[in-house]
Amino acid sequence: MLGGQVLAQDALAVDSPKWSIAIHGGAGTITRERMTPELEAQYEAALQNALDAGAKILADGGSALDAIQAAIVLMEDDPKFNAGRGAVYTWDGANELDASIMDGRDRSAGAVTGVTSIKNPILLADKVRTESVHVFLSGKGAEEFAATQDIETAEPEWFETESRKRALERVKAEQLSALDVDHKFGTVGAVALDQDGNLAAGTSTGGMTAKRWGRIGDAPVIGAGTYADNRSCAVSATGWGEYFIRVGVAQEICTLIRVHSSREPVICDEDQIPSGTERAYPCRLPGNIEPEIAQAAADYAMDEVQALGGDGGIILVTPEGHALYSFNTAGMYRGRATSEGVNEVAIFGEVLAGEE
Ligand code: ASP
Repeated sequence: MLGGQVLAQDALAVDSPKWSIAIHGGAGTITRERMTPELEAQYEAALQNALDAGAKILADGGSALDAIQAAIVLMEDDPKFNAGRGAVYTWDGANELDASIMDGRDRSAGAVTGVTSIKNPILLADKVRTESVHVFLSGKGAEEFAATQDIETAEPEWFETESRKRALERVKAEQLSALDVDHKFGTVGAVALDQDGNLAAGTSTGGMTAKRWGRIGDAPVIGAGTYADNRSCAVSATGWGEYFIRVGVAQEICTLIRVHSSREPVICDEDQIPSGTERAYPCRLPGNIEPEIAQAAADYAMDEVQALGGDGGIILVTPEGHALYSFNTAGMYRGRATSEGVNEVAIFGEVLAGEE
């Protein structure tokens, strides 16, 4: 018995991909008309770089947690994305960063919000997960905790970019909403399955332009922007955070998958039941998460977001290694790679080969 961990490796079908990763760099009004060929090439290269970093770790037998952090750190350091360096500005002209991470083995999770000096917030979120008794730390307290850990800090100038500054100035001068100036949600995220059958998910963002009063979006909220559970899926979201919180998007998708993938109520093997759980515990049948079910669950949650008035998208990996997307925006910066030979990045809303 491994504590409360639900390990999936025994449940993997023999012909399943051994590893899988999906990444995103935000969804939104991303169309060819708004994009120059040069910019498109730059985004594709940045996505490929992040995807390759994560895929290499998985192909070498590394963990899903390490793979998603490697991919996210590269995008946090890239000013093209709204996370880490390149984060959007708050109403008061600061860059306040949010991030979260979750381990599908035991659903341990860590999250930070409103940090201003942490170079890679995803790494701090993971320290919260592993080195604290808490899940969610904010602002000054999160930075104090960071000082007790081996976490790199950066001066405010590191996060600043001219284009994001101009976006804030436009919001203020023309009384626009963040959606008018951003056109896209540049949050970054990654989800992965490793060769041991474990899932992990992570998300990192600067939030939305001109956010104020300590506004927190979905990205650092476990269950809204990020969720991972070995029994069902790993999800990372990007979009209009208020709506993703209201739907509880990431956990909603994983719960739908877990419930709908089992044709009969299934009782777990004894070693899969979390300690302390006495009554019948719902488990999933080995290898029974069909990609169609996972896609339908993701599309359903995105429809819910849309019905309430929001938009955005998600990436998802199943315990069988299917890497899927769902978004209701014109485009989403995204990529996926698997041990089955899938390796692709995409930006616009067209359907990719093998993507249904
Ligand atoms: N979801 C993020 C938020 O609401 C924004 C984004 O995805 O870019 O803070």
